[in-house]
Amino acid sequence: MKKNGFSINELKRDLKKMDYHYMAIELTDVCNIGCQFCCNVGGKKRGVLSEYGLQILLNMSKELDFKGIGFTGGECTLYPYWERIKKIVREKKIVYSLITNGYWAKNFSTTYELLKELKNNNLNSITVSYDDYHREYVKEQNLKEIIKCTHLLNIPLEIQSVTFTDSNLRWLNELLEDGYDLRITFFSRI
Ligand code: SF4
Repeated sequence: MKKNGFSINELKRDLKKMDYHYMAIELTDVCNIGCQFCCNVGGKKRGVLSEYGLQILLNMSKELDFKGIGFTGGECTLYPYWERIKKIVREKKIVYSLITNGYWAKNFSTTYELLKELKNNNLNSITVSYDDYHREYVKEQNLKEIIKCTHLLNIPLEIQSVTFTDSNLRWLNELLEDGYDLRITFFSRI
């Protein structure tokens, strides 16, 4: 049925043809750090997705049979309506991943409790952006806490890193010495 000229079934058919399975939602373009290479163009006029918009997109992801959602930003953990997200994903049984700069992982207990709560609310994986640029603002220790806690909680973790430099290799080697099986993706800076 078409609502205002829009048919969810047509969209479903289109998506099937294109073999899409996941929906990415940029919750906010607000970020608490300022990586040199950042392509987040929000500038000073930064915004957040409204609760109404969030509800519509999550409902749509269900109607369109997406397998899950990927929450991004800016820094998506700064989104002010996380309680709303948790409620909807619980009720609708939606699984999601998120990408973060990891600034919040200041010590073991904070990191463990936050990740445990998200996992109890359907978080199925997490990606941390970390490299020389992020390291100007976020300590390596934060990344180590996230690695430790995701390992303990059995949450799949990916580290995304822009640039492959000597200093990146140093922290990478240190992390590997800790004996964790890490998935790290390197991107080149354009
Ligand atoms: S953490 Fe991400 S959004 Fe924030 S400044 Fe760095 S690259 Fe940009």
